[in-house]
Amino acid sequence: MNQVNPHRRAFIAKTFGGIAGAIMLPSVIRTAVAVAEESHETMLGRGGNDGYIMDSSVKRHCATCEFWGGPRLVSEDGKTLTITGLGWCNNPASPNYQKMTSPDHGPMDTWRKWRVLGGGSESTVVPK
Ligand code: SF4
Repeated sequence: MNQVNPHRRAFIAKTFGGIAGAIMLPSVIRTAVAVAEESHETMLGRGGNDGYIMDSSVKRHCATCEFWGGPRLVSEDGKTLTITGLGWCNNPASPNYQKMTSPDHGPMDTWRKWRVLGGGSESTVVPK
């Protein structure tokens, strides 16, 4: 299922620019945003005033992965995530290790469910 979300570009540009703008050159930011956008074929969430909203039950995508180093907040009922930026992949077993990805990046075989969401038993490739 591929859906286009008109808020996606604005979300990525706004959040990534806001977080990294102080430490990265504008051309580097533009390149990173373009790479992040090109690598995403699915649209699993939606943009909102407070961030990018995603269902916390989504599997094999960065926002719900144990190894994702992006800003994310779990709702009180645990059903959704609010994400406010791109994040680093910290999984040495992933081809995206030490690369910046967006929350809807995937599906990934190297995904492991984030512990905060009750992860631990659901995983694919475990890092060495
Ligand atoms: S292992 Fe895959 S799903 Fe997890 S953070 Fe890295 S790129 Fe994202």
